[in-house]
Amino acid sequence: MIAPGEPPRLPKNYKLVYDIICGAGHGAHFTMSDVFAQAKRRRPNIGFTTVYRGIQRLRLLGCIDEIDLPGTDSSVYELKSEPHAHFRCERCGKVEDVPFALSARTIGTLAARTGATIDAAAVTLSGTCRSCQAC
Ligand SMILES: [Zn+2]
Ligand SMILES: [Zn+2]
Repeated sequence: MIAPGEPPRLPKNYKLVYDIICGAGHGAHFTMSDVFAQAKRRRPNIGFTTVYRGIQRLRLLGCIDEIDLPGTDSSVYELKSEPHAHFRCERCGKVEDVPFALSARTIGTLAARTGATIDAAAVTLSGTCRSCQAC
């Protein structure tokens, strides 16, 4: 685990991907195309594959998390943080962090009930965000 604000030693292009995602801080969520668009703005010659590999590398290093949200076909990436839930607006597609996580006790109860071992849990809420409600 890398301390926040301490960039890992990375090839230049991967460092750029790191700066984009980690520079945005907690609460920001990027699709692969978002990261690519920003990377291209800073380094026009960068290829999609490089950005893709950079993201995979940063995931393996534990710097960023990949989130698969129901109802979307592209994963989003964010700076690694404490477990939290996500809210996705069905109108504008905006993704927001929600400070909620299933407790270890709840997960334990569910594991006992199903007889499974549970390694991961993700909570996604969906609906209409505040600004879309005003439209
Ligand atoms: Zn919305
Ligand atoms: Zn998040």
